[in-house]
Amino acid sequence: MKKLSFHAFVALAVLVVIVIQLIGDISYSKIAPQVQYGVLNLKTWNFERDGPVTLNGKWEFNWNELRTPEMFATGKDQHYVSVPKLWNQVELNGVPLSGTGYASYRIQIFKNSSEVLLGLWMPGTFSSYNIWINGKLYIKEGVVANNAEEAVPSFRNRLIMIPAPKDKLDIVIQVANFAHYKGGISVAPEIGTVNQMTRKSKLETAKDSLIFGCLFIIGLYQFGMFMGRRKEKFTFFFGLLCIAIAVRMLTLGDVMLMYWTSWYRWTGVIRLDYCLITIAVMAGVSFVHYLFKEDTLQKYYYTLIGSGFVFLLISLTLSSLFFTSILIMYQIYIVFAVVFSIIVTVRAIQSQRTGATITLLGFIIFAVLIFNDILYYQGFAPIRDLAPFGLVVCVFIHSLMLSRRISKAMGDVESLYYELRELNAGLETRIEHRTSELVRMNESLESKNDELERMERSRRHLLSNISHDLRTPMTLIRGYLEALYDDVIVEPDEQKKYMKLMLNKVNSLNHLIEDLFELSKLEARQVNVEMVDVRLERFISHIEEQYELELRARGLLFACYNLTYRDAPPVSLNLRMDLDRMIQVFDNIIYNAVKFTPTGGKISIRFQYVISKSCIQISINDTGVGIDPEDLPYIFDRFYKRDKSRNSAVGGSGLGLSIAKEIVELHHGRIWAQSSYGQGSTFHIELPVYDL
Ligand code: ADP
Repeated sequence: MKKLSFHAFVALAVLVVIVIQLIGDISYSKIAPQVQYGVLNLKTWNFERDGPVTLNGKWEFNWNELRTPEMFATGKDQHYVSVPKLWNQVELNGVPLSGTGYASYRIQIFKNSSEVLLGLWMPGTFSSYNIWINGKLYIKEGVVANNAEEAVPSFRNRLIMIPAPKDKLDIVIQVANFAHYKGGISVAPEIGTVNQMTRKSKLETAKDSLIFGCLFIIGLYQFGMFMGRRKEKFTFFFGLLCIAIAVRMLTLGDVMLMYWTSWYRWTGVIRLDYCLITIAVMAGVSFVHYLFKEDTLQKYYYTLIGSGFVFLLISLTLSSLFFTSILIMYQIYIVFAVVFSIIVTVRAIQSQRTGATITLLGFIIFAVLIFNDILYYQGFAPIRDLAPFGLVVCVFIHSLMLSRRISKAMGDVESLYYELRELNAGLETRIEHRTSELVRMNESLESKNDELERMERSRRHLLSNISHDLRTPMTLIRGYLEALYDDVIVEPDEQKKYMKLMLNKVNSLNHLIEDLFELSKLEARQVNVEMVDVRLERFISHIEEQYELELRARGLLFACYNLTYRDAPPVSLNLRMDLDRMIQVFDNIIYNAVKFTPTGGKISIRFQYVISKSCIQISINDTGVGIDPEDLPYIFDRFYKRDKSRNSAVGGSGLGLSIAKEIVELHHGRIWAQSSYGQGSTFHIELPVYDL
């Protein structure tokens, strides 16, 4: 819908331009008579009513003669030639004329109307002329002479006011040309009332001014755009194209500012004209080339630009007579440029580039109007000189296309801006998210660090403990050995006692080393475990068998309670374990309990099922001395003993609970202790339950 309204706008604008062009060509209903053998009969013609008359037809003509009205009056040999017609197209007595030379024209108009003043519109003629009307010299355009040295070319349209006698107008025109390839009257003069002719002349000026103004402003605007965005070279070339054509209108059209300057020279202007045409063509192809960079034809583009420079050089250095004679080459150059532009634009359409279709439309309109002018000069089309307007339409369409491109780009920028803003907002929340994640990671790193520090402390502690626990018995053994060796102890009974002491120390050292070895293997998970499925009932009865008798013998009460039936489903519960190692855990806990429970105390074991965790919780309780709350968090640490003197009589290695913990964790379980000091302790073990 948006696109449709844009196209409608373009169509409307083109229509307006064409209507402006047609205003000057309003036709009157009556067909004007033609000039016949130098005579135009307008006896029944009323200019006011029937409109102006174009003076085309057969004029009296004298080649290589500059006749004055008097000479015509007495002249005998009469020749006739068609007006408008270039000398280059005329044959006189079977001999073709050349474009350069001089000649005289004459026409006699017979009329009846009673206008006081008539207007004669004389178009620019190649390349200088004099006009007499009824014997009076009215206009000298340039200098008419019979040789190239004296003749001075000049080319412009003129409006002549003539007092109109009632019955006859005798018009004599001398034309001389030594500067242009073409010579003679190429457009027929026109006669009408002063109003009609003034209007025509003003319209010509107005049309040229309009074209000049449009192109000049568009050109400046494009240059301004280019200043802002150097990257988009096509705006520069488009501006150059517009300015070149505008300047051309200024120098050659009816505005003709150049005529009002003292240094005006026709040859300079014609040189400028050819240069401007070439520059416009080069700018045009460069515009297309840079506009559709991806679709251009590099090789052809550079050929066109190269040839453009050659044409520029020719127009600037060689004589006007020469370069006007090769006008056809310039025209072929323009045709190639148009074909190049159309091909590139068609390729751009195929690649679906923005504005390609509308650009092609502009070129086609331009091409059609050029074709119209060619047809007009061949006598097939009714309206002449549409090409400049075609160009204006083309330029107009292109500037519309460019403005559309720009507004699209601006729209894109706007939506990009909003997208960026949204993205930014998203980024902020993401950053917040990331920051909180980082804070969390930092916290966890900190706690890891604390843990590492704790581990490092415990490692150092462990080392010093190991060395202490190894050195102490060693020192004792060395002392005993030295005493034996130095014969300090000589009594055989004494000697035996000391040797027994040493053997005990060695055994406990051995035990310590074994425990250490076991613990380090467990920690490194380098132990072979033989997991077997064990029914809970079987495990309970195994434990009962294991400890009952021994504990009773030590004067302690012992009981096992299976409470799993209370909470468990009526299916058998199974544990998966390395039975020997699990017994090692129980040994450790139970013998510790024995150590700290006086005779008559009680050691009991409870088995419970925790449904929510699907595990068995085993609680080993004693009624012994209990554990000091200060010691409780550390009892699973290596070498931790409640009795800080390492030679305690009740002391073991301090590794038992650490080993128990490792074994339980190897079974994916958990171990912890509870105690009320002075009332006993409870050790809890949690082991997962498996389906058989
Ligand atoms: P050890 O081999 O020296 O017994 P453990 O690692 O087995 O070392 O035990 C560490 C410490 O925990 C013991 O020295 C003791 O102080 C304390 N402990 C363990 N079990 C009990 C208990 N049932 N009653 C009181 N204290 C206990």
